[in-house]
Amino acid sequence: MEQMIALERAQTIVLDHVRGLEPVAVACWQALGLPLAQDAVTDIDLSPFANSAMDGYAVRSADLAAATPAAPVTLAVVGHEAAGHVFEGTVGGGEAVRIMTGAPMPEGANAVVKYEVVEVLDGDGNEGSRAVFRAPAPVGDNVREAGLEAHAGEAVMHAGEVVTAAGAGLLASAGCSEVFVRRAPRVGVISLGTEIVPPDAVPQRGQIRDANASALMASVLAAGADPQFFGIAPDDEQAICSLVLEAAASCDFVITSGGASAGDYDYVTALVRREGEVLFDRISMRPGKAITFGMLRGVPFLGLSGNPAAAYVGFEMLARPALRKMRGYRELARPVQYARVEHDVPKRQERRFYNRARVGRDPLTGELAVREAHSQNSALLGTLHHANCLLMVPEGMKGYAAGDEVPCVRIDIDEGTVL
Ligand code: AMP
Ligand code: MG
Repeated sequence: MEQMIALERAQTIVLDHVRGLEPVAVACWQALGLPLAQDAVTDIDLSPFANSAMDGYAVRSADLAAATPAAPVTLAVVGHEAAGHVFEGTVGGGEAVRIMTGAPMPEGANAVVKYEVVEVLDGDGNEGSRAVFRAPAPVGDNVREAGLEAHAGEAVMHAGEVVTAAGAGLLASAGCSEVFVRRAPRVGVISLGTEIVPPDAVPQRGQIRDANASALMASVLAAGADPQFFGIAPDDEQAICSLVLEAAASCDFVITSGGASAGDYDYVTALVRREGEVLFDRISMRPGKAITFGMLRGVPFLGLSGNPAAAYVGFEMLARPALRKMRGYRELARPVQYARVEHDVPKRQERRFYNRARVGRDPLTGELAVREAHSQNSALLGTLHHANCLLMVPEGMKGYAAGDEVPCVRIDIDEGTVL
């Protein structure tokens, strides 16, 4: 232990210690944005019958083969189909049936001519009228075949696919009004530090408001998980121990911030080492070097440093992928975009840097350009609030020069999005 490890190694260790949670049933539309836990199979052909793509007349294509404006063909309207009303007869030679969009193609008909180009004689266009056609209608014209979307017994959506709004409608058509998604992980959030006071208190000299719990709980929500705040523990071994164990007893994942920097009052890593197993406690990354991960009573535990920006970036890099995996997502990495950096980016340490920055398009050239926040001080959250990316400077590099194409991790865009 006490060895700095690469971020990828840390991510692998964390991901290896979590797995997808149990499936639960939800209404298909409430699965929006969530990956399915099981294939969704349709019980019927979609659509179960060939149907009209237009309001118009169902005809026999052969009847209209010779129709032209100069020599129109007139057919007898022998029936109509409106919503829920089906024509059960057969369309014979010289006959047509008035049809609405989505209505089943009547027996005998094999094309639909849209209403707008048909002239109606004698009446309202339904039974008893005659309809005049001035052009041929190829077989299959304006007809949607049965089973175009899927056949009975086929999966309309597979496990792992993320449900879109359109997908919710597809699931409903397939009879999957309820689908299985993986339960949201319950995430216990704890703030550590004698100087930390709740956000509704006015801090006395030396005290600071708890910013991390709110930022982390919001991040938990954004990751599709269910945050639960267990409170603030002072730098007291007993107090920390009881809060952390209480959270571990009822949560799927526990996150603390503060007390992770091996200072005199930092007990949490020692607690995990004593009561469970510490798997790493330092990462070659800035911000966020002092990050402890381990298993505590069988529950993954992530101890983030108290510096707000370090806690946020640590969550983003380690907790978010883990919580998404528990939810069943397959895409776990944020999109990385290359942009031209507008200024020099010096780096004087070996660690990998993730600098808060904002990428945008140059209004004149349309080129992607990135600019860092005015400060990378870990105490500042406003700079993260305004950032849309983390500009990455890898280990072994001394920085970038203005004009370089640099990798930017888009923390404002969902994993799996193609940029
Ligand atoms: P620590 O990890 O305990 O050494 O804390 C590092 C810095 O982050 C110190 O300046 C703390 O006061 C600050 N800090 C710790 N916890 C929080 C919190 N919950 N909200 C805001 N700042 C914090
Ligand atoms: Mg502290």
